[in-house]
Amino acid sequence: MASPVAIAAQAGKLLREQALRPRLLAVRSQAGHLTSRRWLNLQEYQSKKLMSEHGVRVQRFFVASTAKEALEAAKRLNAKEIVLKAQILAGGRGKGVFNSGLKGGVHLTKDPKVVGQLAQQMIGYNLTTKQTPKEGVKVNKVMVAEALDISLETYLAILMDRSYNGPVIVGSPQGGVDIEEVAANNPELIFKEQIDIFEGIKDSQAQRMAENLGFLGPLKHQAADQIKKLYHLFLKIDATQVEVNPFGETPEGQVVCFDAKINFDDNAEFRQKDIFAMDDKSENEPIENEAARYDLKYIGLDGNIACFVNGAGLAMATCDIIFLNGGKPANFLDLGGGVKESQVYQAFKLLTSDPKVEAILVNIFGGIVNCAIIANGITKACRELELKVPLVVRLEGTNVQEAQKILQSSGLPITQAKDLEDAAKKAVASVAKK
Ligand code: GDP
Ligand code: MN
Repeated sequence: MASPVAIAAQAGKLLREQALRPRLLAVRSQAGHLTSRRWLNLQEYQSKKLMSEHGVRVQRFFVASTAKEALEAAKRLNAKEIVLKAQILAGGRGKGVFNSGLKGGVHLTKDPKVVGQLAQQMIGYNLTTKQTPKEGVKVNKVMVAEALDISLETYLAILMDRSYNGPVIVGSPQGGVDIEEVAANNPELIFKEQIDIFEGIKDSQAQRMAENLGFLGPLKHQAADQIKKLYHLFLKIDATQVEVNPFGETPEGQVVCFDAKINFDDNAEFRQKDIFAMDDKSENEPIENEAARYDLKYIGLDGNIACFVNGAGLAMATCDIIFLNGGKPANFLDLGGGVKESQVYQAFKLLTSDPKVEAILVNIFGGIVNCAIIANGITKACRELELKVPLVVRLEGTNVQEAQKILQSSGLPITQAKDLEDAAKKAVASVAKK
C-alpha cells in the first residue's frame, strides 16, 4: 500500500486547489489517532488579538461585519491612514479578486468614507486568491486597522518541524512575497534557527535571526525581543505554526507584525479551551457542520464515489485504492468509534445530498464497531432514502457474518465485496457503466 504521503500527493494532484490541501492533511494527521478532530483555523484578527495579549506588536484594529461598521471603525481609529483587510483563512489576499469586481483583499486609504465604500464591495462577496478554490471564499468580516509605513519587509515563521524534532524559526529578508518562491529561487535567503524545546530560545539565536532579516542597530534588539515573544506565544498556545509575513519595520523605528497566520495542535484542545472556542466554522461547507452535529467527520473532494469509512487510516487507504483502480472519491464520511444506527442513517443522508455522488462505497472495519449495527443502519437508510445510486459494501471484523446476512436478506440491490480491492473495483465499475 502507498504511504500516507503518496496518498496525500495523489489526492493533492486531484484537488489542485491549494485551499483543500489542509483538509486532506487533516485527514492524514489523524491517521494515528483514535478519534477524529476538526482542524482549527483562526482568522487574522483573532491571531492578532492573541499576539497583542502576549506583547507582540500589531497595529491598532477593529473588526467589522457591515460596511457601516467598517466606516465607523475607520473614524474611531482616527489614523493618518487606514488599511482594510478581508478576513478569510487563505493567504495571498493582497493579490486576490472579489466577485463584486473589486481587486485586492487588502486596501490602504486615508479616507474613512472610502473604507466604507470598499467594505461594501468586500463583505458578502467571494474573494478568490492563489490559495482558495476557484469560486473563492465568502467574506463575512473585515479588519479595519491603522496603516503604518513599511521600511523593511521580512518573513518570519516559527513551526514544529519533524525533521528537526522540534521547533524551528524560519526567516527571510525577502518578506511580503510568496515564501515558497523565495525558497525555490533564492534558498540562500532562507535562514533557520533550530530551538531546543527544553532550553528554549537563546538570546543569541533571536539576535542572529534579527540580523539575518536585516534589522540594524537598536532595531535588531527590538526585532529579537519580538521574535522571543512570538516564540513564547507559540509554546503557550500549543501552536504548530506562527507565520508573520510581513514581519516589518516602520520608518519611525518600530518592529510590527503586519500579518498573522497561526495553526494549532488539535491534540492540545483540552488545555486550550478558550482558543478552540474562537473556532470560526463559517468557512466550513454547510455539510461539514451538519456532519459535525452528528459526530461525523465529512471531507468534500471532487470525484464521484462517496466513501463511508471508519477511521482516518481507512479513509486514506480507501482513497488510495480508488485512485489505483481509476476512480475518484467524491467525499469521505468518517464514522469514528462508538457508532449508533441513527448515525449511519444520517451519514447516508449527507452522502447522498451531494449531487456529484454517483456511487457509494462503504468500507468499515469492525473493531470497536459492530458490523451488524452498520448493516442495519445501511438497510434502513436505503429504504427510507430510496437510494438511487449503486452501493458497494465491504464489512470486516466484529460480527461480520451476521451483518452479511442482514444485507443479503434485505432484498436491496447492495453489492457486497470481499475485501477492499474488490470493493474499489466494483465501485469504480458501477460508475463507469453509467
Ligand atoms: P496577504 O496578501 O493575505 O498575505 O495579506 P497581508 O496582510 O500580508 O497584506 C498584503 C500586503 O499589503 C502586505 O504584504 C503589505 O505589503 C501590505 N500591507 C499590509 N498592511 C499594511 C500597512 O499597514 N501598511 C502598508 N504600507 N502596507 C501594508
Ligand atoms: Mn501576508
